Amino acid sequence: MAKKDLDWANIGFAYHVTDKRYVSNYKDGKWDAGTLIDDPNVTLNESACVLQYCQQVFEGLKAYTWEDGSVVCFRPDLNADRIYESAQRIEMPPFPKEQFIDAVDQVVKANIDWVPPYGSGASLYLRPYEFGTGVVIGVKPATEYQFRIFTTPVGPYYKGGATPIAILVSDFDRAAPRGTGSVKAGLNYAMSLHSSVLAHQAGYAENLYLDPATRSYVEETGGSNAIFVDADGKLVVPKSPSILPSITRRSIVYIAEHYLHLTVDERPVKFEEIKGFKECGLCGTAAVISPVGRIVNGEEEILLPSGMEKAGEVIGELYNTITGIQSGKIEAPEGWIHHVC
Ligand SMILES: *Cc1c(COP(=O)(O)O)cnc(C)c1O
Repeated sequence: MAKKDLDWANIGFAYHVTDKRYVSNYKDGKWDAGTLIDDPNVTLNESACVLQYCQQVFEGLKAYTWEDGSVVCFRPDLNADRIYESAQRIEMPPFPKEQFIDAVDQVVKANIDWVPPYGSGASLYLRPYEFGTGVVIGVKPATEYQFRIFTTPVGPYYKGGATPIAILVSDFDRAAPRGTGSVKAGLNYAMSLHSSVLAHQAGYAENLYLDPATRSYVEETGGSNAIFVDADGKLVVPKSPSILPSITRRSIVYIAEHYLHLTVDERPVKFEEIKGFKECGLCGTAAVISPVGRIVNGEEEILLPSGMEKAGEVIGELYNTITGIQSGKIEAPEGWIHHVC
C-alpha cells in the first residue's frame, strides 16, 4: 500500500473512483451492520423511490492529513446529526449517528492511500447519502433504503489564495417558505440547476437567492451560506428557516466570537442593506470561504469595498483561522477534530 501517484495540488473538485465505499441497507425495519465494497455502481429497480420521487438526502465532509501524518475529519458529528434530521423530513429512516461515525472511520481507513498528503492543500472528500431503493409507483415513502459513503480526493479549491467572485441574484427561488430549504436533499439542487446554468453563462460564479416569500431578504447560494461584514466590523449572518444550516458557517460564527472577538449579528438581512456592508463571503465544506466582491441583482450592481483583488480583512482572517484549525496549525475548540487514524 502506498499513496496514489496523483498531482494532488491540481486534481480540482472532481470525482475519482477510489478503492472502497461503505454500504448499509435498510430492510424489514432495520439497518444492517454495513460493509465496505468495491463496486462503485448502484443497481436499482426501475421504480425505486429515489428515481421516481427523489427520496434522497446527503452530506459532504473532508478528511485531512496533518503534519504528524495522522488523518482527521472536521466535526463529523454534525454531519451525522444533520443527515439524521434531513432523513426524517423526507420520511426516510434516519441512519444511526454512532454508525455514521463508524462508517466515516471505516471508509477513510479503507481509502487511506487516497487521502492527500499534508501540505498539498488537497483533502479526501466524503459523500454520505441515503436514498429510497424500495419500489413505489403510488406516491409514498419507500420501505427499503441504502446508506452509502464514497470518497474522492479533491484539490485545494483556491490555488494561491482565494480570489473574490461575482454572484448574481437569481430570478428563481431555491426553497419554498415552509419547504425543504433547511434540508440537505438532492431535490433542492435539482431545482437550482437551471438558474445556476444561466448564472454561469452570464459569467457569474454563483447565484444568490432571496427569501421566497417577499424576495427582500438574503438567503444563501445554491450550496453555500452567505456571511457579511458590516460598516462597524460586525459579522452579519442571515437567519431564515429556509437556509441550510451550514457546518462551516456555524463554525465561523464560533470562531468570530471566540477567536477573533467580533460581534456576531444573526438576523434576517435585507438585500438593500448589503450596499452598506464592507465584505461578503460564501461558506461551505468545498471552498470553506469564498470571498465575494460583486453582487448583481437585475440592473443593480453592488461592489463590496473589499474589491475583486483579494479577500476582505475579516473574511481573510476567518478563512485563515478555520483552515488553520482544520489543518492542525491552530488549536481547535473541544470536540471539533475527529481523529480517524
Ligand atoms: C451543504 C450546503 C451548504 C454548506 O454546508 P456545510 O455544512 O458548510 O458544507 C450550504 N448551503 C446548502 C444549500 C448546502 O446544501
